Order: sequence, then C-alpha cells, then structure tokens
Amino acid sequence: MSLTVPALVTASAGAPFERATIDRRALGPGDVLIDIAYAGICHSDIHQAREEWGTAIFPMVPGHEIAGVVAEVGDAVTRYAVGDRVGVGCFVDSCRECETCRAGEEQYCLSGNVPTYNGRDADGTPTYGGYSTQIVVDEAYVLGIPEGISLDVAAPLLCAGITTYSPLKHWKAGPGTKVAVVGMGGLGHLAVKIAHALGAEVTVISHTLSKKDDGIRFGADHYETGDRETLKRLRGSFDLIINTVSADLPVDAYLRALRLDGTMVFVGAPENKQSFRAFSLIGGRRSLAGSNIGGIRETQEMLDFCAQHGIGAEIETIGADDVDKAYDRVVASDVRYRFVIDTSTIPAR
Ligand code: NAP
Ligand code: ZN
Ligand code: ZN
Repeated sequence: MSLTVPALVTASAGAPFERATIDRRALGPGDVLIDIAYAGICHSDIHQAREEWGTAIFPMVPGHEIAGVVAEVGDAVTRYAVGDRVGVGCFVDSCRECETCRAGEEQYCLSGNVPTYNGRDADGTPTYGGYSTQIVVDEAYVLGIPEGISLDVAAPLLCAGITTYSPLKHWKAGPGTKVAVVGMGGLGHLAVKIAHALGAEVTVISHTLSKKDDGIRFGADHYETGDRETLKRLRGSFDLIINTVSADLPVDAYLRALRLDGTMVFVGAPENKQSFRAFSLIGGRRSLAGSNIGGIRETQEMLDFCAQHGIGAEIETIGADDVDKAYDRVVASDVRYRFVIDTSTIPAR
C-alpha cells in the first residue's frame, strides 16, 4: 500500500508553498524508506518551481538535497539497514543499461534519468522531492552519509557538493592548478572548499566584495569582483573556471581570463541563452564546457572526501513557513550559503 506523507507543495509556477500530503509508492523489495531530516534549497528548485527552465510538472514538491535516516528496507536490500544515515541527490533511477549508466555516469543516462522531482517514474507517476518527511528510493540511488558530517550540513552536498566536485576532479584541479570559482552562493562556496582541499590555488570572482572574509575562510587564496577592469587584469590567469552563476555573464571576458588550454565550465544554468565569440576560444586553445551533477559512485566518493576533509555546507536552517521568503533571498544572492529545511516542521500542527 502506498504511503501518505506530509510535504510542502507548490500548485503552479511561482505559487506559494503550502502544507499538503502526497503519496509515496509502497516499499518494493529493492527500496529504502527514508525519514528525511533536512532538505537543502538549491537554486535549481527555484528555476523549476517558477518554470524558468520551461514547462514543469505541478503540483511540485522540490528538493534534491536530501539527508535522513533509513526507517525501513525492502526484502532484497543489501546495502542499507534501518538506522543508517543516508542521502538522496538529483535523480532516483536511470535505465541502468546504456553506455553512460554502465560507466557510472547515470546523470547522463542516454534515455534520461528519473529526476528526484519534476520527473516521472518508469510507470509515469510524478516524482516528488525532499521538502517532505519521507521518501522511498531504490537502494542503488541512495548514498551513505559518513560519520563525522552531520545531516544538516551534509544535505547540500547531495547536489551543490557533487556538482562542483565532479568538474573539479574531471578537469584535474589540484596542486599547481589555478581555479576560479565564479559566484559564491550554494554551489560556489562548496566549490571553494573542495578546490582548496584538492590543493588548487583558488580565486573567487563574485559580483561584490561583501563575502570576501567568508571566501578566504573557506579556503580562497584571492577574492575578486567580475567587473570589466578586473577581468582584464586577470587575462590568462586560470586553468579552470567553474561558473556557478544563475544569471547572464560576459562570457568572452571570462574566457579570456583562461590560460593556454584552460577550460571554463558552466554548472550555473541561467534561463537565457549565453553567447561568446569564437576568437575568445581560438586565442588560447581554450574550451567552454558544461557539467551536470555527478554519478552515484562519484557522489559517494565526494561524500567520503568531504568527511575526510571536514567539509560541510554553511547553512541557514529554516522551517516550513520560511521557504517562500528563502527563495526570494536566494535570488537576491542573500544566502549564507545554503538554506536547509528542517523537515520536522512540515507536518500540519
Ligand atoms: P545561488 O546560491 O543563488 O548562487 C549563485 C551565485 O551566483 C550567487 O550567490 C551570486 O554569487 C551569483 N549571482 C547571482 N545572480 C547574479 C547576477 N545577476 N550577476 C552576477 N552574479 C550573480 O545558486 P546555486 O544553488 O549555487 O546554483 C547556481 C546555479 O547552478 C543555478 O543556475 C542552478 O540551477 C545551477 N545548478 C546546476 C547544477 C548542475 O548540475 N549543472 C546543479 C545545481 C545547480 P556572488 O554574490 O558571489 O556574485
Ligand atoms: Zn541542485
Ligand atoms: Zn542509462
């Protein structure tokens, strides 16, 4: 029998969140039932809840930065037991057969993975995310949260952490490399911590200097603003630029800040088209790239790496009544540095 679970629901694009209940599927043999403790608010939740990326599925329960504890396991589950601390990220299933799934890169599943929310399960049922008290997920798409990271600061690692860890590893950030992180919000602040822990020389490029002290505390070696003059001074500086900005950027000026063979990676996903001049690439054999979250295996590797290096998100914990306000604050770049919903505040009182 399916489970009825309290959740925060938005009825249509931009509508305020309301307390309601949703149905979760009955626990299957390979499934894990998770009592959700915390759910992070990712800017992608806002893009989707406001339909900035195109048509979305409503009613919607966002949330793909989920941390909690296993409450029940199906008969065939082998990886997790009741009481384990676990997480769920941006997808809850994939085809498991295509080239990319077999390579452990399920985020690029050729038939499209099943997003944790604003998606549909194989049987067509809409998926609902982490702004809720419980979720049922196939154990193959559940992550273990290591001892040593508390669940609240671990939740944002499930999207913001892996989205920055994956390109930093892919493009080999480490000792001797110069990495710029553009935008120091939810993704950006974790990019700074992770790039620093990997041994890279890290520069933040923010649109103000207001978060400079924090950036240096998170491990940045330099902190700059992205104005025209500064970007001119930074020409030829970086091996890797991780762009986490959710809005439009002067792409050419950033490309020219790359060294020979440098790469600028978009993880930020603005709603508008971005443009650049071919000469900005040609002039330094530069690359412009994109990166999408990370696979299950790499997400576990990232969680273990963060535990080992004492990395968690900087969070502001909020209750169910504060989510609409939090969305506005994220859009205004007024978040230090991730909002996390305490899901015990979701059930109607
Ligand atoms: P966030 O917390 O809002 O951070 C974005 C940062 O971008 C802000 O803190 C701000 O940093 C900068 N910014 C925002 N508006 C700006 C503007 N108008 N001009 C210049 N800078 C601006 O958002 P997030 O949760 O980190 O997500 C960032 C983006 O990544 C979103 O588009 C999100 O959808 C996307 N995303 C992509 C993936 C993926 O897999 N590729 C995964 C998760 C999220 P400063 O104040 O420091 O300038
Ligand atoms: Zn996200
Ligand atoms: Zn696949």
